[in-house]
Amino acid sequence: MADEERLWQRRCRRLWEWLGERPVEAALIVVPANVRYLTGFTGDSTYLLVASGVAIAISDGRYEQQLQEECPGLELVIRGTTGEPMEEAVGRAVRRIGAGRIGYEPHGLTCDRFQRLQMALPGIDWQPMEQVVEQLRAVKDAEEIGRIREAIAVAERAIGAALEQVDLRAQPTECRFAGVLNMCMRELGAEDEAFETIVACGARAALPHARLSRTARLRLEHGVLCDWGARVEGYVSDLTRLIAGPKIAAPLQRLVDAVLAARDAAIARLRPGVPARSVDAEARKVLDEAGFGRFFKHSTGHGIGLEVHEAPLLRPNSDVELRSGMVVTIEPGVYLPGRYGVRIEEDVLVTEQGPEVLTSLPPVIVLT
Ligand code: ZN
Ligand code: ZN
Repeated sequence: MADEERLWQRRCRRLWEWLGERPVEAALIVVPANVRYLTGFTGDSTYLLVASGVAIAISDGRYEQQLQEECPGLELVIRGTTGEPMEEAVGRAVRRIGAGRIGYEPHGLTCDRFQRLQMALPGIDWQPMEQVVEQLRAVKDAEEIGRIREAIAVAERAIGAALEQVDLRAQPTECRFAGVLNMCMRELGAEDEAFETIVACGARAALPHARLSRTARLRLEHGVLCDWGARVEGYVSDLTRLIAGPKIAAPLQRLVDAVLAARDAAIARLRPGVPARSVDAEARKVLDEAGFGRFFKHSTGHGIGLEVHEAPLLRPNSDVELRSGMVVTIEPGVYLPGRYGVRIEEDVLVTEQGPEVLTSLPPVIVLT
């Protein structure tokens, strides 16, 4: 039959080609985002065994129908209703294909679960397979990029809607504004927040990952830092903006200027073939020259996709080269303890023609 190749067939075949040189006869995929990527299945508690020309999902009765609907034609091993342990069901799948040497994802298994697998499948030669599907996921296809674009559009529309509903000049709490923003994202089409929304201002914004406070009040004159994102059909956006009144205090403006210069320099470096660490170095150099280098305490960016932090990581020790189709954040920040924090975060697509900035809101949202 000349049926069009399904998503799971296409992606499992690509994984198998990718694994070609490795001495394994099958790969056991356990990281939920990797299972989703390879199959399109949106549930959880499911493993995937991939070998040459065959893929088997190992799940339980709750997901049998959903798997048939979302991944038509994919072979299934469904755990018995009497509480068959996952490792026993994996054993059934492994015996079905007769593999002896199996790649596994050590970063997705607890020690306990791995020991159970080893005991349930004596004689299997387990080969660690780190960041393999993650590397495939790093380069997005057109459909994935479309979903990320939609996740960005939802997040950008949502903050406009939230600012219409909550008057920041009335000094609401961080929790109040974040709650309304989250609700707006859902009303505008997000299935979820991409991560826990961050809203903070002044000295609290100087804590790069402050937890939301139910009592701290937002003061526009200190600059309100908002880091948020939406999830649409599994794919996320991740943005950070500063929200301020019409007059920005001079010391705060100096931080904003330095961060924007670092952002622009880093984005300009985003091209296929460029080492990820050199993008990070570029942002760091600009902030160093502005005298803020030691107040930039995290990496310059990360990939986004099915997860908020995924390959490639743009940080000093990264040995990844950028490729066309990667979508990364660029998010330099300066955090002056006890005073101000400024971070601006864009989502950028790497293309042969250069960087395409997907986010479109101005870096500082000025409320008049
Ligand atoms: Zn962010
Ligand atoms: Zn980020």
